[in-house]
Amino acid sequence: MNSKTEFSIGNVRIGGNAPVVVQSMTNTDTMDVAATVAQCHRMMQNGAEMIRITVPSLKEVEPLRQIKERLRAEGIQTPIVADVHFNPKVAEAVASVVEKVRINPGNYVDKRNFSHLDLNDTEYAAAVERMAMRAAPLLEQCRKHDTAIRIGINHGSLCDRIVSRYGNTPNAMVQSALEWIDICERYDFHKVVISMKSSNVLTMMEATILLHEEMEKRGCTYPLHLGVTEAGSGLEGRVKSAAGIGALLLMHVGDTIRVSLTEPPEQETPFAHTLLRAVQQTRPEDADVQDDTLVFSSDDTDFDLWMAKAATLAGYAYFKHRIRDIRLENPHFPETEIRNLEAVILQACRIRMTKTDFVSCPSCGRTQYDIQSVLTKVKERFSGYPGLKIGVMGCIVNGPGEMADADFGIVGASNGLVCVYKGKQRLTGAVTVDEALDQLAQLVGEWSL
Ligand code: SF4
Repeated sequence: MNSKTEFSIGNVRIGGNAPVVVQSMTNTDTMDVAATVAQCHRMMQNGAEMIRITVPSLKEVEPLRQIKERLRAEGIQTPIVADVHFNPKVAEAVASVVEKVRINPGNYVDKRNFSHLDLNDTEYAAAVERMAMRAAPLLEQCRKHDTAIRIGINHGSLCDRIVSRYGNTPNAMVQSALEWIDICERYDFHKVVISMKSSNVLTMMEATILLHEEMEKRGCTYPLHLGVTEAGSGLEGRVKSAAGIGALLLMHVGDTIRVSLTEPPEQETPFAHTLLRAVQQTRPEDADVQDDTLVFSSDDTDFDLWMAKAATLAGYAYFKHRIRDIRLENPHFPETEIRNLEAVILQACRIRMTKTDFVSCPSCGRTQYDIQSVLTKVKERFSGYPGLKIGVMGCIVNGPGEMADADFGIVGASNGLVCVYKGKQRLTGAVTVDEALDQLAQLVGEWSL
């Protein structure tokens, strides 16, 4: 393979010199074929060039096939990506259905129970070998059907084996990715995309750059998918995404992107395209750093474009120069709006925390409660606590792990009910949203004493 790997996923070129591809993910129940097809339509109308759909179990494989067939029957060729966690059999089954399968090495064979595993080198190598054996049938299916794989590393769901050896660090994320790259290469499989996601913008950037450098040393740069997980909603979610994704793109790293928002997925892609425009109109030299402060003057009249440029430059300047402050100037926006954007960017980069930090997933077909309205209520009630971190997550399968460093959290259970967490500890069974909010109020009250 050459140093800039490029290939097709369905009708879309990815990697190498191909344009950056904008992705999004449905949050309908995959069993509901009509609703998922309708949501795909809305996402594509808003600029989604690749669509991911969750496949929690084998029973969603046939509906997924129907969703794809309906879209193709309508002449829509947008590549479909299956999102698989925990179950290798599901990954093997969907490899013949879709153009790309996303797996999470943190839960494909290994597990995360927040336990320390004291493995010696022989035991460690044996665990990696077990994973390689389990990956073989998937890679065989992918080769047979010309299906790509995304090795989707999540900082919040690294397995115990990796965390025990490398810590919960960007390097641990890189080691997890390299294990799977080695396995793919051992089986001569190269249609590989990799993502290094975290809700922490700096961690996501560091892990991605480390992996990029490691792949360059090895002489094979697989395409990278960029995203900040659990970025939340509104201005905060967009700024977090722009700071991480935009900064990496400014460094010419990244081939596909997803702006994850706890909003309807069709609202993700317009901002993703704005971010791409912002990066095209920005150069690293625009990061004017004076005495640890990023100074950015602009006369952009489009708020989102300006905000995306400012966050991109801030992410870049923080990564490169560890800036401590930001000063924005723009004659077209009121002073209060400018100062608020500065504060939101500083918070997104974790340079200065002036209010509660919210982490919330975009939701997917696993979510069985109205996460968007619950996040809105949580933000309204608990915003004024600098240093506090609250998670609002869609499902109990992945949510607790992904928000493990939050102080408190609400996590979706089934049938509209949720559970309340304190750190990694579940405090309640499945309760109503109102009961959960009351419990959260009590916890936040005690925290703030
Ligand atoms: S945490 Fe959210 S996005 Fe992740 S699998 Fe669960 S519901 Fe889906």
